[in-house]
Amino acid sequence: MLSERQRRWRETNRLTSSRLVLARKVLQEIHEGREVMSALRQHPLEGGGYLTKAALVAAYQQMVAAGVVNVDAPLLERIRMKPVRTLSGVTTVTVLTKPYPCPGKCIFCPTDVRMPKSYLPDEPGAMRALEHDFDPYAQVHARLHALRSLGHPVDKIELLILGGTWSAYRRDYQEWFVARCFDAMNEFEIEPAGPMPGAAGSTPGDGTGLAEQHSRNESAGSRNVGLVIETRPDEITPDELRWLRQLGVTKVQLGAQSLDDRILDLNQRGHDVACTRRAVSLLRAAGFKIVLHWMPNLLGASIESDHVDFGRLWAGMCPDEIKIYPNQLLANAELYEVWKRGEFTPYTTHELIGLLADLKPTIPRYCRVNRIIRDIPSTNVVEGNRRTSLRLDVHAELQRRGARCQCVRCREVRDIPVESEQLFFDDLIYSADHAEEHFLSFNTPQDGIAGFARLSLPTRQSSSTQMEELKGAAMIREVHVYGQSLAVGAERAGAAQHSGLGTRLLAQAETIAAGLGFSRLAVISAVGTRQYYLERGYERGDLYLLKSLRR
Ligand code: SF4
Repeated sequence: MLSERQRRWRETNRLTSSRLVLARKVLQEIHEGREVMSALRQHPLEGGGYLTKAALVAAYQQMVAAGVVNVDAPLLERIRMKPVRTLSGVTTVTVLTKPYPCPGKCIFCPTDVRMPKSYLPDEPGAMRALEHDFDPYAQVHARLHALRSLGHPVDKIELLILGGTWSAYRRDYQEWFVARCFDAMNEFEIEPAGPMPGAAGSTPGDGTGLAEQHSRNESAGSRNVGLVIETRPDEITPDELRWLRQLGVTKVQLGAQSLDDRILDLNQRGHDVACTRRAVSLLRAAGFKIVLHWMPNLLGASIESDHVDFGRLWAGMCPDEIKIYPNQLLANAELYEVWKRGEFTPYTTHELIGLLADLKPTIPRYCRVNRIIRDIPSTNVVEGNRRTSLRLDVHAELQRRGARCQCVRCREVRDIPVESEQLFFDDLIYSADHAEEHFLSFNTPQDGIAGFARLSLPTRQSSSTQMEELKGAAMIREVHVYGQSLAVGAERAGAAQHSGLGTRLLAQAETIAAGLGFSRLAVISAVGTRQYYLERGYERGDLYLLKSLRR
């Protein structure tokens, strides 16, 4: 059954023959240089309104398939909606797990019985999940379909699983959920636009095996190049690491929130800083990419204490990515009662912009800032900042100050063509807890980052993952090359993704690790990138791909 929203979407984007004629005229004008919106407005629909960009992309694809027009990649790029969504090289598909409680009792965290803990039903991703009754297959299928309709490539997928604390769900549910997501990616090519086979009525334990879905995905049209879950620091144990690898997880989002025990306690996080530190060390030793959530303006914090707290992130934990989630006062969180008693004051937008503009230039060059505000519609915010475009505000403030953020995101080359021979190699070495980290990167003369790898060299004190295959091995935790996510085999001049940077980064990592006495290199590979490493001399281990380093 289609939801009302889906029905409306389909109707708006339906391609009748008259719309096709119109689309052809619009495309011709765009091809001749006219701006997309202006060309669309020049050709209104008969009953009023205009063709949508999605309909235009669909018309273009239909005409290419019918041989009416030739493939025109630059034209597609111009009409593609929100090209930035795939500029970091992969297409992200976000799905939510079913409503479920969380062992945490954090006072700032909203509760809504229709949602997994901490999510609100009017957040964009949550709305989509609700429409599909949290069915993993249906969510992935619908998202792939929508992204492709908007002209985005869907051959390299990072799957982002959100919803409270992943590790608190029963393991049979987790396994089923991931297997169904993979099933949807595996079937997508076979089932381009039709119904969703097997979506309805499937339940945990009815088991299309995870191992089988993984193995199918290694050669599927939509390959999984990253699998991300979010959990609490106190859930990370050697046993959990092994389980996450069995599921195919490559990146873990961990709620750190603060690095001050007093503030963690006041906000009833239920764990201390030492626990977060232990969890980060374990994740690093097992090769996971580490995303920490950090929250300014928690109960008990001040602008001054937040400055200090943020600085603690880089002394040992050194996350690869961060999400800054300023605390937001919501009516369905316990903090609301504290605020009513006059014991909590949210920062103003002005204060928040000032704080974040102070912090951003201090972020090390190896870290990527994924978000600086949560995607909560402002109508939910009782008091304090309501602007969701905070990133733009902060960047405007940085510009006004003549300051610059050098995080990975701010330096990504995105869609700018790169000249391979002009790139220079950099090895940024830093010390994290129990590991020497090498952030290897290829950079443009303008300090743009075209690709990078994270090489982790465990020290003797490294946390024990209890995984035999990792003993004594150096670890590649990430290889990422930028450029618009291109369909496999679709070359484009200057696109970093296809200029062999990945192979060059691997070679550098191997040389460095061998030079420092490591005889083996392990790589944490997503299911869909296993072939990539196998083709470069790596061999299948139990949960990792491995290579001997001969000196
Ligand atoms: S651990 Fe996360 S999801 Fe659970 S209550 Fe705390 S903030 Fe909410």
